[in-house]
Amino acid sequence: MRVGRIQNYRSWSPWMVPDPDTACVGLEYFCFRGDDLWTMSDDELVALATRELAELGLATPEKVRRGHVVRVPLAYPMYDAEYAERVEKIRDWLDPIEGLVQVGRNGLHRYNNSDHSMLSAMRAVDNLVAGTDHDIWAVNVESAYHEEETDADAQQPYKKVPTTALEAELKEMSEAA
Ligand SMILES: Cc1cc2nc3c(=O)[nH]c(=O)nc-3n(C[C@H](O)[C@H](O)[C@H](O)COP(=O)(O)OP(=O)(O)OC[C@H]3O[C@@H](n4cnc5c(N)ncnc54)[C@H](O)[C@@H]3O)c2cc1C
Repeated sequence: MRVGRIQNYRSWSPWMVPDPDTACVGLEYFCFRGDDLWTMSDDELVALATRELAELGLATPEKVRRGHVVRVPLAYPMYDAEYAERVEKIRDWLDPIEGLVQVGRNGLHRYNNSDHSMLSAMRAVDNLVAGTDHDIWAVNVESAYHEEETDADAQQPYKKVPTTALEAELKEMSEAA
């Protein structure tokens, strides 16, 4: 199989498919710009996807009504050996700019997933609204870089995420009510 990941958008929400009798499946092919997958024609890619759906037993070719190809350049941030130093350099340059707050995947130049991207935004809001001093750049670093950490939980960023100030405030309000 060349396909990297498959999802059925109707399982996300019925509103993602215009006709309830059909499904809309996304097949992701991970590649580099210029390689054989990237340069394959749209028709060839749809044919490949159709073939692989059948080989996986998910849908027979006659059930595939049509396909659409979207090529996403630079979709993934790339970590290499000097990555951390380069991000440090970017941070050193950006930090002194007053009033600039960075969040998310591209904002922090980090391989953040949706949850980390949202958490970085929540921390940023805390800093602005509640006056906290969260280090936004530390979101998603805890597990990846603190290899000397011996606490097993340190490898599980989701277990260790502290309550945000806004959450604490809401909890306090609900307890007081
Ligand atoms: C192929 C792929 C698969 C992924 N799979 C997963 C997954 O399975 N699970 C998961 O948790 N995460 C996944 N991610 C990561 C997830 O998509 C990101 O972590 C998340 O979307 C980052 O959120 P964000 O708000 O930082 O940035 P984005 O969601 O990229 O939002 C940034 C927005 O800013 C807009 N924008 C950019 N420049 C400007 C400008 N100059 N002016 C105005 N608007 C602008 C963009 O159009 C975009 O809408 C995947 C990402 C990719 C690319």
